[in-house]
Amino acid sequence: MAVRFAPSPTGALHPGSARTVIFNHLFARQQGGRFILRIEDTDRKRYAEASLASILDGIRWLGLAWDEGPEVGGPHFPYFQSERLSHYHQAVERLLAAGDAYRCFCTAERLEALREEQRLAGRPTMYDRHCLLLDPGEAERRFAAGEPAVVRMRVPEGETVVADLIRGDRTIANATVDDQVILKSDGFPTYHLAATVDDHLMGITHVIRAEEWLPSTPKHLMLYRMLGWEPPVYAHVPLVLGPDKAKLSKRHGAASLLEYRDQGYLPEAMVNFLAFLGWSPGTEQDLFDVDELIQAFRLDKVQSSPAVFDVAKLDNLNGQWIRRLPPEEFARRVKPFVPWLSDELLLHAAPLIQERITRLTEAPQYLDFLVLRPAELPAELAPKKRTPDETIRVLQEARAYFEGAELGPAMEAGLRQVAEGLGWKAGEIFMTLRVALTGRTVTPPLLESARLLGRAECLVRLDHAIGQLIGRPAAL
Ligand code: GLU
Repeated sequence: MAVRFAPSPTGALHPGSARTVIFNHLFARQQGGRFILRIEDTDRKRYAEASLASILDGIRWLGLAWDEGPEVGGPHFPYFQSERLSHYHQAVERLLAAGDAYRCFCTAERLEALREEQRLAGRPTMYDRHCLLLDPGEAERRFAAGEPAVVRMRVPEGETVVADLIRGDRTIANATVDDQVILKSDGFPTYHLAATVDDHLMGITHVIRAEEWLPSTPKHLMLYRMLGWEPPVYAHVPLVLGPDKAKLSKRHGAASLLEYRDQGYLPEAMVNFLAFLGWSPGTEQDLFDVDELIQAFRLDKVQSSPAVFDVAKLDNLNGQWIRRLPPEEFARRVKPFVPWLSDELLLHAAPLIQERITRLTEAPQYLDFLVLRPAELPAELAPKKRTPDETIRVLQEARAYFEGAELGPAMEAGLRQVAEGLGWKAGEIFMTLRVALTGRTVTPPLLESARLLGRAECLVRLDHAIGQLIGRPAAL
């Protein structure tokens, strides 16, 4: 069996499309089939080079390799539709010869006037089959003489049953289906023809795609029948909506999958989250890696109602996935977000934040104190109830303690004693030291952080804090 993801490179890879990739990938792996990536680039006006990179990089980032397609090749090469024109032309010749398609010479002006007339009369806007009446020999002569023409499929009479694995059967009256253009005057196929021909030639057995393509399916089924080919099984997956129940779009934040990478989400979390949009394994467990998803996924259990993209759920999964990573791997993932930290320091610092952050983008605010000396310290340096002199005193005693003690968690007891001796609460002294050493009120565990800074650096920062309270901050 084989499935395909067939994006048009007209924009960035959308999270909703990434969900389609995931369903295709899971199903292919589970069934031991092939996952084909095909680029539907026949709309030359909307083609965007950057879009192709976004699609390939996005799928790669998710870790979902395709078995055939761009860059990897395969037996159905080429995988760009713009390089497969001869296949579409052959199919068009067959359809023309059988009378299942006809050339149409109607000008854009005529078609616009027709639509306007139909709109005013309150009728559906459809082609009126004006050119179907042309004598085929005459049409070929006009075409050979260079007159611009498109080719339209001739929708047969009767009904078409669209069987869908997720939505069940629906019967469509063919009379409601337009004589769709299948070949444009520039010789490029439209989506309907190209997708049908390629799905057949590439041996696609299951078409898993977004719900928005459901209305196109009767046209595809008609083409299959005309060409004498066996149609695939269809599974139209539900729309992905934003929290306001409108179709997920730029307005809801990230429009492109890769923006989630840049916002500090892990691909593991993204795959886990997206796989649950419209499908659920029906268990308590919410953390699933790809292998577990492959085992659990049921294409026929995908729901038909729309799925809502809930960022709080994504954040929750991301936090859980962050904690699940082995520490060295976590450090490797954080590195691009804190490129200014040496590998060695990062390796020691990463475990201090692995339990605390939800997204990798939070790493800098937790770790920048390691390379930046805080200049102006926030007011939390001195507890509200304490005078500056009392705080100076505490800092001085703590400084003396820092000079002699071994830095690290073992300092906890000693510092508590310092606090006690001066009538301070432990919480107060730790906040004062936190602000003095890091310039921040929320940090990784304080004494571990102090150890990473090293004694000399801690002393410089304590002096600076004392200086700020005196009103003459020591130079940094
Ligand atoms: N090229 C279409 C798209 O951009 C593919 C639709 C399909 O999967 O048939 O989504």
